[in-house]
Amino acid sequence: MQKISFIAPCYNEEENISEFYKRVKSVAREFDDFEFEFVIVNDGSHDESETILDKLADIEPRLVVIHLAQNMGHQTALFAGIEAADGDINITLDIDLQDPPEMLAKFLEKIEQGYEIVHAQRSVRNGETVFKILTAKFFYKFIKLVSKLDLIDNSGDFRAFTKPVRIIISQFREKHKFLRGLFVLVGFAQTSIKYERHERLAGETKYTLAKMIRLAVDATLNFSHFPIHLMFVVSSLMWSLSLLYLFAAVLAKFVFGTAIQGWTSIVFLQVFFAGVLLFFIALLGAYIGRIYEQGQDRPLYWIRKVRNYKGDK
Ligand code: UDP
Ligand code: MG
Repeated sequence: MQKISFIAPCYNEEENISEFYKRVKSVAREFDDFEFEFVIVNDGSHDESETILDKLADIEPRLVVIHLAQNMGHQTALFAGIEAADGDINITLDIDLQDPPEMLAKFLEKIEQGYEIVHAQRSVRNGETVFKILTAKFFYKFIKLVSKLDLIDNSGDFRAFTKPVRIIISQFREKHKFLRGLFVLVGFAQTSIKYERHERLAGETKYTLAKMIRLAVDATLNFSHFPIHLMFVVSSLMWSLSLLYLFAAVLAKFVFGTAIQGWTSIVFLQVFFAGVLLFFIALLGAYIGRIYEQGQDRPLYWIRKVRNYKGDK
């Protein structure tokens, strides 16, 4: 019998867990020729999530709970869930029920047609602010432009994928993950289906502006050399222009004999070049920081306890 894993990260979602469990359970009931597991990764919640999850796990052996030792972020929590899952078919989704588990039927249809990765693409985004929608739009355009990755517009981390994909994704050991980029990068037969993204069942988004910016930086640094190209192009422009300027200055001094007054221009050049150089040093720092972190080779996440997990974590 084939196994289907639902994988959801959970950060302070005490109001959503029970309803999420009810919904995935009733989906599982409909597809009784499959075995099911529900993997929930508690990403260091400070509310009652832990107690609720543990109580559910006591009565539901199919519910695998991974409690991370602290909040490690959505992408890391999701990755921990992917590593813990055991499905022949795996579905990652939000626990706030923005991504309806009932989409399983449509996912299965595509997988039966031979697709290995099925992205769910949001056709409507209910209950999201104009700010979120606009920044997301800009973000996708930007990442697609700089990374040349064929990211699916308006797709988040709601997707279905087969066991070979799950295994290969688990082998990506980079620390700052941008999973939706990795899922495109790995290839396989991919397709997408449209869905209507619902409002959060309860609570507020856990994606603060700072977390969104971090995700955008991770996506840019992980999937493109755009910042390095930028340094190359801007610095080449600057030195070629400054050569022109030098030429003009030399002409003025030795041919026309008009000594340059120069204070303003010198101050301007000083400040301008120093600013650009510092900016580039900071950009290089971002890469070096990542190389250093990767070199430290710390674990990608750490687990405090697990429930109903059969592996050896
Ligand atoms: N989440 C998490 N760790 C975090 C932030 C979020 O595990 O640091 C979970 C959250 O509980 C939810 C999913 O990741 O299940 C997506 O977060 P959220 O719904 O807040 O993001 P949005 O849907 O608003 O983009
Ligand atoms: Mg959500």
